[in-house]
Amino acid sequence: MSVNDASLVIRQPNCSDHSNIIDRDPYVNTSTRFLLAGAFAATLLLTGCGNGQDTRMVTDPEISVDDLRKHVYYLASEELKGREAGSPQEAVAANYIADHFEAFGLIPAGENEYLQEFSFTRGVRQQPGRVYLESTGVRINAEEGIVRAWGISGSGRATGRLVFAGYGIQDTEGGFDEYQAVDVTGKVVMIMRGDPESDEGADDRDIIRERVRLAEDNGAAAILMTVPSHYEGTQPLLPLRYDRLAASATIPVLQLTRETARILMQYAAFDLDYMESEIIRSGEPVSVETDMPVRVVVDLATERRIARNVIGLVEGTGDPERYIVVGAHYDHLGFGEHASLYNGTEPRIHPGSDDNASGTAGLLELAHYFAENSPHYSLLFIAFSAEEMGLLGSEYFMGNPVVPIDDILAMINMDMIGRLTDGQLAIFGTGSSDIWNELIGGIHIEGIEVRMSASGTGNSDHTSFYLREIPVLHYFTGTHAQYHRPDDLPDLINYEGLASVVNHVAQVIDGINRYEPGDIIFTGTARAPVMGMPGAVTLGLVPDYSYEGDGFRISGVAPGRPGDLAGIRAGDILIAFNNARIADIYDYMRLMREFHPGDKVAVTVMRENEEILLTVVFEP
Ligand SMILES: [Zn+2]
Repeated sequence: MSVNDASLVIRQPNCSDHSNIIDRDPYVNTSTRFLLAGAFAATLLLTGCGNGQDTRMVTDPEISVDDLRKHVYYLASEELKGREAGSPQEAVAANYIADHFEAFGLIPAGENEYLQEFSFTRGVRQQPGRVYLESTGVRINAEEGIVRAWGISGSGRATGRLVFAGYGIQDTEGGFDEYQAVDVTGKVVMIMRGDPESDEGADDRDIIRERVRLAEDNGAAAILMTVPSHYEGTQPLLPLRYDRLAASATIPVLQLTRETARILMQYAAFDLDYMESEIIRSGEPVSVETDMPVRVVVDLATERRIARNVIGLVEGTGDPERYIVVGAHYDHLGFGEHASLYNGTEPRIHPGSDDNASGTAGLLELAHYFAENSPHYSLLFIAFSAEEMGLLGSEYFMGNPVVPIDDILAMINMDMIGRLTDGQLAIFGTGSSDIWNELIGGIHIEGIEVRMSASGTGNSDHTSFYLREIPVLHYFTGTHAQYHRPDDLPDLINYEGLASVVNHVAQVIDGINRYEPGDIIFTGTARAPVMGMPGAVTLGLVPDYSYEGDGFRISGVAPGRPGDLAGIRAGDILIAFNNARIADIYDYMRLMREFHPGDKVAVTVMRENEEILLTVVFEP
């Protein structure tokens, strides 16, 4: 699907002014404009806009259960196909939100009217006819379904003699090094997923990524990956999946079915099953170099997409140069190709009624309410996209703010507020400013029992603001069995509860307006959530999840922690510990596991394109 398809979305016009409907989408070319103009004239007639009223847009300025229901049902409708970021349906949803912002009289605050567009990598796909294995005059193309590229394979071609290296394990301390007896430099290495004891880790992408990294570090020119004979999983060839956080391998990585691997080894005069059984029997590596040349070609194309944040402004009457951000992501999982918990075989629409049509409906109701009830500070209403892809929309906004970040007093986030049960409402981030406990403590709404939680970070867009030291609150009514599944349906939403939650948010916003800017101070929660395993050493760094380059980029540093004391700064890209390369977040985690309390380690960071060498000392 090309980016432009999104532009051919016909929106129901609002009757007041339809001339800009065509203009709003930059992707519409001239001939299409005329086509659409004709279509709209017809639509106006059909939808009876002649009478001046577009029923979709009629909402009550008060926070109303009916309006919330209307918004949720529309956003979760089949027509919007689960609102995946960058899809045509996401653009329809974006226009729906923008239309309402316009109807409510919000000031357009995006780069393109209400829209703030950004691009992201949605995935990778195999280039037709350019992913294959070749040996002894036989070529096996990916299209045949018995070989497939690995999602973070490097794109390239390599020819070299085939080497079998068992599971590709190099545990020198444990005395099991499958690279010891062979030299894989410039050769094509075949390894099996899992390990001799069990195939438990055979589908574990972290383990596979490490095995790939090991083969690379040992000089392999390409990797052929297959499954062990006792593999009981359902994915002998793992789906081609792009991992934003992982640096792609520098060499081609091709998956083979067990049968294909068996035959290839036979051609090289080796018995794969026998060698495997010998490793398991002896507990020793059985790695061999063969004389057989193999050619591996992997050509992957990254699929880039355009997504859009929708941003509208209600200007404050008292101090309009200061802003409170009210946010909710409106994207969801589409057909669940990414991050779905649904195991069915048939792709199904994930309507995302609670996640996060509920928060988006709340955002629209608050925008209407405050457009009619002017606040003291300005309110920036932001419907984020690509939250499900890793907070990409809010990260993009923080990298491209439409108002000065220093003038943002606070951010209120709503993500999954539609399933209030027994009145239990969780509000996170209350440790991010001293005003929150007092402010929230003073609000009482019948049927709501607030549970406050200090931490300012979590799996939603408020984190992008917290990391820039902006006080945040995150509203959440709890997870449920329908989370990230096709049955997160609008009928299951508690609309009265939703209205009460949105009312609570309205009162908090009112409350913030009563504080002086100097009182709304950021206080880091006790300890910023840091990366690391329990009991392992940590540096107090917060990863930048939207970063796709080489190395490990930091978006936050906890004050007083080893990273901060060593001089690491937000924005730095870690590229090495001592001499060990850090290609991505996974390398960072793997290498961190090797350090102990009290260790002193050299760390190389890139800062403004300059390499800087620092020394960290892990807490004893
Ligand atoms: Zn969500």
